[in-house]
Amino acid sequence: MGGTFDPVHHGHLVAASEVAGLFGLDEVVFVPTGLPWQKSDREVSPAEDRYLMTVIATASNPRFSVSRVDVDRDSPTYTVDTLTDLHRQRPDAELFFITGADALAQIVGWRDSDRLFDLARFVGVTRPGYQLEDTDLPAGAVSLVEIPALAISSTDCRERVGRGMPVWYLVPDGVVQYIEKRGLYRTGRPQQRAGT
Ligand code: ATP
Ligand code: MG
Repeated sequence: MGGTFDPVHHGHLVAASEVAGLFGLDEVVFVPTGLPWQKSDREVSPAEDRYLMTVIATASNPRFSVSRVDVDRDSPTYTVDTLTDLHRQRPDAELFFITGADALAQIVGWRDSDRLFDLARFVGVTRPGYQLEDTDLPAGAVSLVEIPALAISSTDCRERVGRGMPVWYLVPDGVVQYIEKRGLYRTGRPQQRAGT
């Protein structure tokens, strides 16, 4: 499962866990992006912070792991490169690429989309606010699955921290603490305290 994971949240974790259960996967490898070409319009937190938050979030699940293939890459991340590297590291593994409804809609625009479907089976999961459709995708290339709806996004988590609103229960406890410790997503101005 690839992502910016800025920060990783429970929507990501539920998606991974559901797909692992439905497809009987032995392992889910979370792959934080290095330099995401699709997000060059905004500041992305340092790769090392996103990598560590993903490690913290997945540490308690023996089937979850985190890969540095994209974090350690010098060039922008393309999914075809990620899958090629993972295939090289695990030549005998059957690869699945887990993606949310919003990212699935962009697959056809992804580089080397034909090769992508040779490298992995794609699993598209439902995500509140997005329509899950495979109309433009090659027939049979993508499995669509419905997962418990969690209307959580990293964008909202970042904005919440910036406004001084809590992200408890949207992201794992250790990630709340890591965000605070590193001062991530703060807009600079101290927030006013509410209440009487
Ligand atoms: P941002 O708001 O910064 O884009 P995000 O919440 O979309 O962050 P990403 O790191 O962009 O998180 O997403 C990684 C993958 O997880 C994508 O395939 C995305 O579609 C999927 N995903 C993210 N949030 C959810 C969710 N709540 N439910 C299902 N899938 C999700
Ligand atoms: Mg996103």
